[in-house]
Formats: sequence, structure tokens, C-alpha cells
Amino acid sequence: MSLSAELFQRAQHTIPGGVNSPVRAFKSVGGTPIFIDRADGAYLYDVDGKRYIDYIGSWGPMLLGHNHPAIRQAVIDAAAKGLSFGAPCPAEVTMAELVSTLVPSMEMVRMVSSGTEATMSAIRLARGYTGRNTIVKFEGCYHGHADSLLVKAGSGALTLGVPNSPGVPADFAKYTLTSEFNNLPQLAQLFAEQGNDIACIIVEPVAGNMNCIPPAPGFLQGLRQLCDQYGAVLIFDEVMTGFRVALGGAQAVYNVKPDLTTLGKIIGGGMPVGAFGGRRDIMQHIAPLGPVYQAGTLSGNPIAMAAGLAALTEISKPGVYDALTAKTTQLINGISAAAARNGVPMTTNQVGGMFGLFFSAETSVTNFKQATECNIEAFKRFFHLMLQQGIYLAPSAYEAGFLSLAHSDDDLSATIAAADLAFKQL
Ligand code: PMP
Repeated sequence: MSLSAELFQRAQHTIPGGVNSPVRAFKSVGGTPIFIDRADGAYLYDVDGKRYIDYIGSWGPMLLGHNHPAIRQAVIDAAAKGLSFGAPCPAEVTMAELVSTLVPSMEMVRMVSSGTEATMSAIRLARGYTGRNTIVKFEGCYHGHADSLLVKAGSGALTLGVPNSPGVPADFAKYTLTSEFNNLPQLAQLFAEQGNDIACIIVEPVAGNMNCIPPAPGFLQGLRQLCDQYGAVLIFDEVMTGFRVALGGAQAVYNVKPDLTTLGKIIGGGMPVGAFGGRRDIMQHIAPLGPVYQAGTLSGNPIAMAAGLAALTEISKPGVYDALTAKTTQLINGISAAAARNGVPMTTNQVGGMFGLFFSAETSVTNFKQATECNIEAFKRFFHLMLQQGIYLAPSAYEAGFLSLAHSDDDLSATIAAADLAFKQL
């Protein structure tokens, strides 16, 4: 038995499902999860000594590659001065200033410790600021596991929220309305009916939790316009897209200014960090300036801030996003060509360093329904054929893929060759 299999067996006695976050259990693809010993550059090394080219990048944070020397050194230096103060430290101020410079719509910033905390806090703020309870999210968008956000659409087009998980009271979920991503007329109808009760729209400006689906032309602009018309707060959840699709996030790519933005992943360089921020007049409602309560013992933690600052400093260097985008395009083009050569129907999406592979004969995939109609069985077989060849893809057909700057031409060529072989065997 492999060491991974042994660990997984052991883990299941004391950790629910053997993992600390469900997708890691490989439930949707089957098989045994790989336990990781160490990671460096573009590679993960499992406890059995096998090397993998990694396209998850810790689900996004590892834009510079694993174990980047500048981030590692910043963490070591900060750790030498103490691990947590529970009091303000200089790095928090620098971090807020840097975030505000890189993402100018974030005039004020509050640091938290995860993406979930960032979105949960932004929603509370939007509700507190507007005095309204109802929020709008999109089908297939994930914003962390706070109660208000764990709500899916029913089969009807415009449904009242149905809790996605036991433990979320229906009375609570009813304040979450869901609408179709990239369907502006449907959303306009929802606002026409209930717009005066809607506190906010929260959206992944590029959807990354139903594979990778970019916004249709005019969709984000339409959200902005509806929020302005009805006095609702527009929240861009850039936990995934922030510093990933461009240095200024999706809001820079699509030139739409949200009222609030949530960040996570890359902003911590691998440490547990999130942030939310936005318009000064809205952020001034947060405690201790205003009445909307939000707090955190470890928020602005000095080690996390040091890692995040080092990451943001590195990615601010010239050429980073051109290189990342070019690498991603090279990979996507290579995989698409291999699929075509082998007669495997495949559609791809890409925004900057974020990509999606769809086992679908459609010429483009633009919404949740299409994403869920892809050939999931083909994906599962492809996933395992790639894993056997040392290519680590997300173990779910509904996750975006991520590249890093550490992925070399050789890594990309090896990945494309592995895909070619996998397509032959599908
Ligand atoms: N928002 C988005 C867009 C995400 O992709 C995620 C996590 N993948 C979250 C929020 C939640 O972040 P976390 O897992 O750090 O709580």
C-alpha cells in the first residue's frame, strides 16, 4: 500500500472524510488523494516520492510557484520577531496601502484570514450600509461557506434561495436570491420585482467555481448599472481572480468599478489571508469607525502580512502577467490541439493565468447549465490518466486551473504530451 493510501486510511478515523476541505478527498473523481510532502516551483512531491507538475497551485495562491525564495525569506524574517501580536503592526499598514494602490477601487481595506471571512464580512457590511436584507448571487458561483452564500438556485429561473447544506436555516437562505451568470435580462427582471429590497450583488467577475467562465460582454457593466439604479452595493468577489487575471484583478480587465471587493489566495502568498475593501463611505461603517461589527484575533497577522507583501512585491514586477498569460495560452492551445488530433470534443476558456477545460462539443461554454452538461465521465478518466503521468489537475470538473510563473516550457510540453496520450486512451 502506498504511504498516501495508508495516511488516508488513518486520517479517516479522526478527520471527517480524511480531509480538512472536502474537494481534497477526490470524491468526485474517485481514488485515493495524494498526500503531499513538499512543494517547489511548479512541482508537488508526494509522500511516496513521486513528482507532479501542479496545476492547482494551492487553489490559486501559488502564482509565483511553490516555496518562492522571496516569500520564504520574508516569513522566516518575520517569524524571528514573533508570531502574533494581537495589536497593530507596521506590515498591516503597508499591506493596506499596497492593496489600495494596486486595486484603486479599494480605498479602505480590512484584512481577514480567509476568503470566506472576506465575503461574509462584505455581505454584512453591504446589509448594514443599505439597511436591506436581501442579497443576489449567481448560480454556480462560490463565495466560501458562510450561511448566506451556501445557497443554490432551484430549477426555476428566478427562485427563492434553497439552502445548499443542512445547517443553513431556510428562513435565513430566503434572503439569498439566485440568478443565472451571464443572463442580464433575468437579473433586470429580478431587480424590477425586488430591487428596492436588495442590499447587494456578489459576483465572481470571472466564474472560477464552475470551471472557468468569463463574463459575457456587457454583463459586469449591466450589474454596475442595476446596482446604481436601485441603490444596491456591487461586490466583486476577487478571491480567485484578484492578482490572477491581471495585477488589478478582473475589475481592471473589464474596466468595471465595484463598490466592494473581496480578496484571498494570492494576497497571502500561501499564508491564510483574505481582505475586503472598497468605497471609503461604505467602509467607514465598519467597527470601530461605524456600527457594523467585524473582528479577528489573527487578522493582519505579521507572518501572513510579510508573506503577502513579498508575494505582491514580486508580482508587481514588469512582465509578470504577460508571461503568465502567454504560458497559459501555450498550455491551452497545446491541449486543445491534442484533443482535436484525437477526436475528443473539447472547449476551453482562459482569462490571464486562469483556465478551464470542458469536455463538451459546444463551441463555447458561457453558463452554469452548459458547464454541468459536460462529459463528467470523460473528465474523471482524463484526470486519472494525467495523474498517473505526474500531472496534478483539480480533482473536479468544476474548478478552474491555475498556472504559475515557475512552469517552464518543458513542463508545459510534458503536460501537453501527457494529455495527448490520455486523449488516445479515453
Ligand atoms: N470566493 C471565491 C471566489 C473562492 O474561489 C473561494 C475559495 N475557493 C472563496 C471565496 C472562499 O475562500 P476560502 O476557501 O479561503 O475561505
